[in-house]
Amino acid sequence: MLSLGRCVAIQTATVKRAARVLTVACTSSMATDPAKKRVLIVGGVAGGASCAARLRRLDEQAEITIFERGPYVSFANCGLPYFVGDVIKEQSSLLVANAAKFNKWFDVVVKESTEVVSVDRVAKTVKTKNLNSGEEDVYSYDYLVLSPGGNAIRPPLPGADLPGIFTVKTIPDANAIKSWINEKDAKTAVVVGGGFIGLEMVENLVHRGLKCSLVEMLPQVMPPYDPEVVEPVHERLRAVGVDLHLGDGVAGFEATPGGALLVKTQSGKAHGADLVVLAIGVRPETILARQSGLELGSRGGIRVDEQMRTSDPAIFAVGDAVEVKDFVTGEQTLIPLAGPANRQGRIVANVITGNEPGRFRGSQGTSVVGLFGLTLAATGASEKSLKRLGRDFRKVYLHINNHAGYYPGAKQIDIKLLFDPKDGRVLGMQAVGEEGVEKRVDVVAMAIQKGGTVFDLEEAELCYAPQYGSAKDPVNMVGMVAANVMRGQHPLTSWDELNLQELVSDPGTVLVDVREPSELEKVGKVEGAINMPLSSLRQQLSKLQDKDKKYYVYCQVGLRGYVATRQFLQRGFDAVNVSGGFKSFLQQMPERHAKL
Ligand code: FAD
Repeated sequence: MLSLGRCVAIQTATVKRAARVLTVACTSSMATDPAKKRVLIVGGVAGGASCAARLRRLDEQAEITIFERGPYVSFANCGLPYFVGDVIKEQSSLLVANAAKFNKWFDVVVKESTEVVSVDRVAKTVKTKNLNSGEEDVYSYDYLVLSPGGNAIRPPLPGADLPGIFTVKTIPDANAIKSWINEKDAKTAVVVGGGFIGLEMVENLVHRGLKCSLVEMLPQVMPPYDPEVVEPVHERLRAVGVDLHLGDGVAGFEATPGGALLVKTQSGKAHGADLVVLAIGVRPETILARQSGLELGSRGGIRVDEQMRTSDPAIFAVGDAVEVKDFVTGEQTLIPLAGPANRQGRIVANVITGNEPGRFRGSQGTSVVGLFGLTLAATGASEKSLKRLGRDFRKVYLHINNHAGYYPGAKQIDIKLLFDPKDGRVLGMQAVGEEGVEKRVDVVAMAIQKGGTVFDLEEAELCYAPQYGSAKDPVNMVGMVAANVMRGQHPLTSWDELNLQELVSDPGTVLVDVREPSELEKVGKVEGAINMPLSSLRQQLSKLQDKDKKYYVYCQVGLRGYVATRQFLQRGFDAVNVSGGFKSFLQQMPERHAKL
């Protein structure tokens, strides 16, 4: 255990005594060895704990202290929804490490329930307050690492502080929700916000037997994703009985005389519930940074350089509190995810100790969420973000089995790949399905980080046995489709680029459905399309005269459309395949779906 002198406390005083204790500047006579780096870390969870452990592994001499405002360091906040849902049964399972372990394994002093209340950048000290005793201390540092995370947003709406309205950020938050459910015998819940925490909370509340409504202001859940990609998530939520209210923001909350809550929305609706979970995002925690005059970025996070250094060279910042560079688009962004926080924490330790890697590459926002048997994952840029930035891109939709179709249990994955039409550089991928989704997204995440192109995906050598994949893995396949587009061998468009009404009424264009008639009868077709089944297309094309027309070809998922398009082209017709076929049509035009 470190002694107080060796650890860097230079002034200890309770609040009551504080006034008469001298403000003592840190000197070497305080038993602090000037040769040893004194590192203070604010926040002891993802970024902070990761930084402390790495620091110790690299520097046995450093004096490392973590201050954590909450009662636990290094807890698994990502597990909280599953703890609420009783999937994770024991609270102890959420404690990845505790103060004693940090002390024994890493010789790191951990001060739990201790808030850093101010930073004096000139004196290089921080002032702390023990939240149980009120005791205040001052510690000096050579390096200060800020990893204070983000704050769950509680909107300034009428009734937002009513009992029974919760956010989910800490173990005490999760315990409060669990106690409320048990004590009130809660049967219904409204979750506000359809991001990944909101979705995980919905799944877990349903798992506990509660009837759940999800209210989301945008017309889709998972806002960073493109709308058509999350359409299967909407379907799944509805299929399991979740009341999904999209495109309707919350206007306020009311308590009913019977003890329930009402969530009132901007459209004038009111959803009753026994409890409400607010999951509308996190805001970077920047109080210390602002108070001490550190620069903030345009998105409201702490500004850092590639070494995670703030505008003060002795202060680093990591995790949800910082702005980072988007790896693909280069713009400043906020990525509140555990992976970047952990890696940034390590990088700070490397920088402080002069080790590699000493540079954060930027974040791709690689993310995954699972709900009700579906997995939704993405990496890199979305179409929305590329459009917002005016970036040129092309896209490919693919609906493909996760493993060989002949091996039992194959499940379809819906994939959307975005790439640069200039050089085929991969810009982003989103995928949804029941099996093997995140594995494909992870492969493409690595390709993006290495500046990979669709030609690299085409040639990627990946695992294959029938129960795991296909000899041409979905990653290869999406690469092949895109590479064929790049080579001009596969003219491709997508439903959202077409004006269907014009297309089918224009005598110069023809919409061709190449599926078999029995399929059309079973699943429907796009209005105005003519049916030329692939199985007899050669014969039909040999009789077809209209070479002046343009043929828009589609099938069920895109593959037969491609095969047919090649036949059209090689016989001198102008043809283009509609990416993703009828399946993409249904996902991109859900309102038409309803009319079919
Ligand atoms: P945190 O891990 O939040 O730690 C910050 C700590 O700093 C807090 O404990 C806070 O108490 C402390 N602190 C703040 N200010 C002070 C102060 N002044 N003095 C002392 N201590 C202070 N990410 C994923 O990638 N995948 C997931 O599945 C996932 N699931 C999540 C589920 C939930 C419910 C939540 C809340 C988050 C989830 N995340 C997930 C996000 C992930 O947990 C965060 O991105 C990550 O923890 C950020 O790390 P951090 O170190 O920046 O902040």
